[in-house]
Amino acid sequence: MIVIPLAQLDQGDVELDGIENPVDINIQDSDLVEFKDDVVYHLKAQLVTGGILLTGEVGTKFHGSCGRCTAKFEQNIVNREVCHFYEDVGEQQLDVTDDISEDLQIILPMNPLCSEHCSGLCNQCGIDLNKTSCDCVAEDIADDIWGDLDKLDFWD
Ligand SMILES: [Zn+2]
Ligand SMILES: [Zn+2]
Repeated sequence: MIVIPLAQLDQGDVELDGIENPVDINIQDSDLVEFKDDVVYHLKAQLVTGGILLTGEVGTKFHGSCGRCTAKFEQNIVNREVCHFYEDVGEQQLDVTDDISEDLQIILPMNPLCSEHCSGLCNQCGIDLNKTSCDCVAEDIADDIWGDLDKLDFWD
């Protein structure tokens, strides 16, 4: 849980630094992404007109399977633009766990790639095109070119 101790805010800004187990803040594994490392956060809460401002950053490392070549890889992600405003709340503590969890999840790639330049697998022979090449691709393109030419009607 990540909570802002509201009473302390009266004495000044409150820094919240810590780590959380991903499971504890509702960050779930998916088919393509696994979370084995701690979620690290550095936050600052301050009183502003009308409420409380929470800014800072949250990050972790995830273990992914590349959407193109299926290779396993790890990637660090950090959201440095955490920014939430809470109107005055009458409680002792303000639980911001869900908001911070969301801040991390919105920066997760929809389609994780081992590298943005990943060539992927050949869709015909299944070979890893990052490591080697095959003839399928060239043939494929050639077929497409002739296929398109066939569709053109020069004698209309
Ligand atoms: Zn890849
Ligand atoms: Zn191939």
